[in-house]
Formats: sequence, structure tokens, C-alpha cells
Amino acid sequence: MTGNLDLLEEDEGEREAKLRDLEEKSERERMKAVRASLPIYQYRESLLSAIQEYQILIIVGETGSGKSTQIPQYLHEEGFSKLGKIGCTQPRRVAAMSVAARVAEEMAVKLGNEVGYSIRFEDCTSEKTIVKYMTDGMLMREFLGEPDLASYSVMIIDEAHERTLQTDVLFGLVKDIARYRNDIKLLISSATLDAEKFSEYFDYAPIFRIPGRRYPVDIMYTKAPEADYMDAAVVTTLQIHVTQPPGDVLIFFTGQEEIETCEEILRQRTRSMGSKISEMIICPIYANLPSQLQAKIFEPTPEGARKVVIATNIAETSLTIDGIRYVIDPGFAKQNSFNPRTGMESLIVTPVSKAAAMQRTGRAGRTGPGQCFRLYTAWSFQHELEDNTIPEIQRTNLGNVVLMLKSLGINDLMNFDFMDPPPAETLLRALEQLYALGALNDKGELTKLGRKMAEFPLDPMLAKAMVASDAHGVSEEVITICAMLTCGGSVFYRPKDKQVHADNAHNNFHRGNVGDHVALLQVYNTWRDSGHSTQWCYENFVQIRELKRARDIRDQLVGLMERVEIELRSDAQAFENIKKSITSGYFYHTAQLQRNGSYKTVKNPQTVHIHPSSGLRESLPRWVVYHELVLTSKEYMRNVTEIRPDWLVEIAPHYYNNASDLVGGGGGGHNKK
Ligand code: ADP
Repeated sequence: MTGNLDLLEEDEGEREAKLRDLEEKSERERMKAVRASLPIYQYRESLLSAIQEYQILIIVGETGSGKSTQIPQYLHEEGFSKLGKIGCTQPRRVAAMSVAARVAEEMAVKLGNEVGYSIRFEDCTSEKTIVKYMTDGMLMREFLGEPDLASYSVMIIDEAHERTLQTDVLFGLVKDIARYRNDIKLLISSATLDAEKFSEYFDYAPIFRIPGRRYPVDIMYTKAPEADYMDAAVVTTLQIHVTQPPGDVLIFFTGQEEIETCEEILRQRTRSMGSKISEMIICPIYANLPSQLQAKIFEPTPEGARKVVIATNIAETSLTIDGIRYVIDPGFAKQNSFNPRTGMESLIVTPVSKAAAMQRTGRAGRTGPGQCFRLYTAWSFQHELEDNTIPEIQRTNLGNVVLMLKSLGINDLMNFDFMDPPPAETLLRALEQLYALGALNDKGELTKLGRKMAEFPLDPMLAKAMVASDAHGVSEEVITICAMLTCGGSVFYRPKDKQVHADNAHNNFHRGNVGDHVALLQVYNTWRDSGHSTQWCYENFVQIRELKRARDIRDQLVGLMERVEIELRSDAQAFENIKKSITSGYFYHTAQLQRNGSYKTVKNPQTVHIHPSSGLRESLPRWVVYHELVLTSKEYMRNVTEIRPDWLVEIAPHYYNNASDLVGGGGGGHNKK
């Protein structure tokens, strides 16, 4: 009996194995067919021979033509990976992860083995990795450990048209490397036609164009300006869903908050319409969305349903979603802006450029003719939008980049080979700030402290606070606070229908007016003491997703602290020491209360306000440091902590050299001269 059963089971096992084999084979075949259908496939051979011929090549092809996913594979198939890794940078973390995942799938390998990615606070690579995707910021950090990129045979700077700050700095660094490493290949890949500029910069490198397929897209404008683009976007989506033929919808918003609001409203409205309408699959996508949810946007839409992707400008060129036929473009994006005169940095919702609007429109015409609904007037497109987006390097704080370049031994920043140089004033400002923080000496050279700070992939001010916590014996606490400030979204959850409950729960963390920094610490520590409980998060209206991310970031920061030989010491009740550590990094961000309840920043006076989300919004301390400024209806300080003015003189004497000015000036607007 048993013998027979064994035989039967063996048969069964064999059959299963065969079936699996067949399935795998057909999956491989399918993948091959999909890869061969991409526009770039026809140009595989000519592209490879151009790469063989030239050291630097500019590659231009429309979004979705297969540049990011295929070129590294072609290079690998051609044997370049035997000479060294194939690197490919992406300006956005989501794109780095998602493209790597896709390529691992196409190559039928496990993500993190032969194909991997590296983004800030997350390294998904191994010894085996030969095709490596990474954010441009991570490649900049790699230069610190490997200034000649010796382990790479090819480096692809992808999405070069995005012109992020890091991409622009990388241009200068890789151009320099190519001069003394004849064996490295450099590919600059871009989605826009403005390739001549790249070519010129790279000593007239040849341009390889991949002609794209494109279908016509009808552009519709609103007749009058929209007062509320959220509402207009929702109404347009529902109209498309009810009246238009099949095809997915892509809506562009400026950030996570807007995307979540839109998702919520759409869910409510479709629920109330019940079975009268066909199924709507809503997929949000933004930088901090957990990766399992990100994959959802690529799943094919089932027959009869319609997918609505709600995205930040990440879907403008970085990610290509097949099947989009309708694009809704409210015409805005979040952009950072920096005023070197006042040192003010803020994230501002800004109208997009004409070039960006055209890219958005193009998303509707990839697989067939499409429609684009611009939620602004034709007049406004013509007369109010800039032609091109200003490169980030010209409108952002350069503190971080200058610290990196200084650690790479690049001292003469004024003469660094920038494609578009940043304003001299901004560079000077960054140098001055790094000097004030103690990262540079009076000759502009990196100090020991500066070297330590550069180890942290953080803003120099945060890095300084981390290093300063050592002397105050509270490194454990300050790491937590820095991790919480870095995790991205807000940890405090405030659903519209339960605001009072949420506020009550949140007030517990702020009790005693400890300030927002310590409140973040209390949230994290209480969660930790609950055994990282989900239930606890739920009861306290705290976003578990953000906390988990903070925990991951924290783990990484702990490793970096060990590297710079800072001992981990804890004193969770030493609030004053914690606040002093924060102040050591943030004395630049100090403001003093005025009689009318507003605040004035101490150096370069500007009127600012405490953000409504702050625990200190009612207590209004006389002196505060703040983490950042956000400009919405007013200039708000977000994450605020009370300090004593004498700390400033103690902590940053070279910056606040006139103690009597600060202390004698008192609060309440007495400092008018
Ligand atoms: P490009 O870099 O030229 O913009 P990509 O190589 O990113 O083009 O995209 C090529 C194709 O691969 C597109 O059709 C896109 O939809 C598909 N693709 C990219 N990433 C994924 C993913 N994570 N899952 C499924 N398909 C993907």
C-alpha cells in the first residue's frame, strides 16, 4: 500500500514540477515579449555600439520608452557587469525602488541580489548586486567612500531633466571622474528634448535619440480660474468615470495631504453613488507611501473598472503607468525656495512650468489618444506659467551639498563646474552657516566636527544637533527626535470626524508645554514602551507608518553615531539638555515673541507665527527655536521649542556675540530701535 502511495505522490510531485517549469517558461516568454515591445528595443544594438564608441553619451527618449528599466539590462547582457557594477541614479526614492523591483522581476532574480537599490536609510543591495539603482543623493554619499567610483563600469544619471540639486552636483563630479577614468562609461539620460545643453556641458558628448510613440491628446481648459482645485478635480474625475469610455485617470496634486483628502472624498462620493456606477480603483502614490502599496498602481485594471491614480509630480516623468488615458492637472507643485538674504527656506505650492504641464499632458497619450483636463485657463497657461522650471540648485539651501563637497576635498566652490551655477550669495550663505555651526574653520576648511557631521545623511543643522547631544549626555533622545523629524509626514493623525478626540490624545504628549521636539520624543518612547503596539497608535491617533519609519531611520542613525564614536547615553528626563542639543543645531532658527503674538526671527528679522499644529500654539513662549518654516496662509514655524536666550550666547557665542542685545532686549517687542 505505502509503496503505491509513494509512487502516486512521486507522480504528483513530478507533474507539479513540470507544470511549474512550464509556467516559469511562459512567464519568461511573456516578459521577453513585453521587453521587446518597448520603443527602446529596436535601438538596442545601435545604442550599445554608441556606448562602446563613446565614453559619455546623452540619451533622450520620452518617458516610458524603457530607458530606466532596459539600458542597465542591455549593458549587463553585453558583459559590462563583468567589469564592474552598473549604476543608475534616480532623483526619487519611489522610482529607485519601483524600477529596481521591476528589473529584478524581468531578470527573474530576487530584489536585493543581482538587482538592488539604495535609498537614504534603506540599503537593499548585497555582495551579489551588479545592477544598482540609487537616489542621486546616495550616489553623492558613495563618493565619500569611493571618490573614483572604482567599483562601477557604467554610471547612468537618469532623469537628468529633473535637474534636482543632487543631479546637478553629480554632473560636476562624474564629469571630473570621466577625465581620469577612461574605462568608465557615463550615460546621461533625459526625457526632454533640451539635450543640447547636456551635450554642451559634457564637452559636446553625442546625443542618442530614441523616437517615442505618442498619440494625440486633447487639452481642455477651464473657462474661468478655479477657486478650489480639489473640488474641481473630484468633479472632473467623477464626470469622466460616469460619461467617458474606459481608460484610467491620473490626477496630479502637490503632496501627501492633498492626495489623501482627494482619496477620501472620492471614496465617499462613489460609495454614495453605490452600484449605479462601475468600480473605481483609487491608487495614491507619493514618496512616503509604503512600498507594498506602491506596487498597486502598476496592477492591470480589471475589465469594467477604472483606475484613478492620484500622484505627486512623481508621475510626471519618474514613473510610467500604463493605461492612463485621462490626465487631470490642477497646475501646481510643491517647490522649495530659499532666500539667501534672510536664510529663509520654505516649501511653497507653486504653479508648474509650461514644460512640466506638457509632460503631464503627455502621460495621457502613451497607449492611445487621450484627454488632458487643465484646471486653469488657456490664458493663464500662456501668460502666467514660466517656460521651464528653475533648476533646484538656484532656489535651495546649499548647506548639505557644500558640506559634502568640502568633505570630498573640493574647496574652491566658486569655481566648481556647475551646469547652472547657484547664486553666489547662496553659496556664501551656506559657507557662513557651516562656519557658524563649527563645521568649517575660518579658512573655510572642514573641521573635525564637520567631518563627523558629514557622516550623517541629514541637514547640517540636524547633524550638528546629533553630534552636540554627546556633550549633553542625551544622544539616545536626540537621535529619536532627529529620526522623528526626518521621517517625512506628520505622526499626529487628526481625522476630520474625530478632531476633538485626537486633540485630547495629542495633548498628553505636550503636557507641561515641553515643546514639539520633546513631544515627538514622548510619542516615540511611549510607543516603544507599549511594545510597538498598533492598538496604542490607534487609541492615541498616531500614525503607525511614520513611527515605523522613524524606528528604521533611528536604527541607521545609531549605526552612524557608532561610526563617529559617539557613545549612546540616555537621560529621558533631562529636557533642558535635550533642548540645548537641538539649539546647538538650530540657533539659526530662533525667534522672539512680539507684543501682537507674532514672532520675529532674531537675525534678519522676519515676522513668523507658531504653526496651528504646535503644542505651544497657545502658550506663546518668549523665545523659541523652530525646525522649519512653511508658507501657507502665513509664514509658519513648524516644530517649535521654548529656549532661554542665554543658551544662545552659551552655545553659539560667535554667532550671538552680543549677549546684552539678546538678553537685555527682553521679549515682547522691546527691541525696536
Ligand atoms: P523610461 O525610463 O524611458 O521612462 P521605464 O524604463 O521607466 O521608461 O519604463 C518602461 C516600461 O516599464 C513602462 O511601460 C512601465 O510601465 C514599465 N514599468 C516600469 N516600472 C514598473 C513596475 N514597477 N511595474 C510594472 N511595470 C513597470
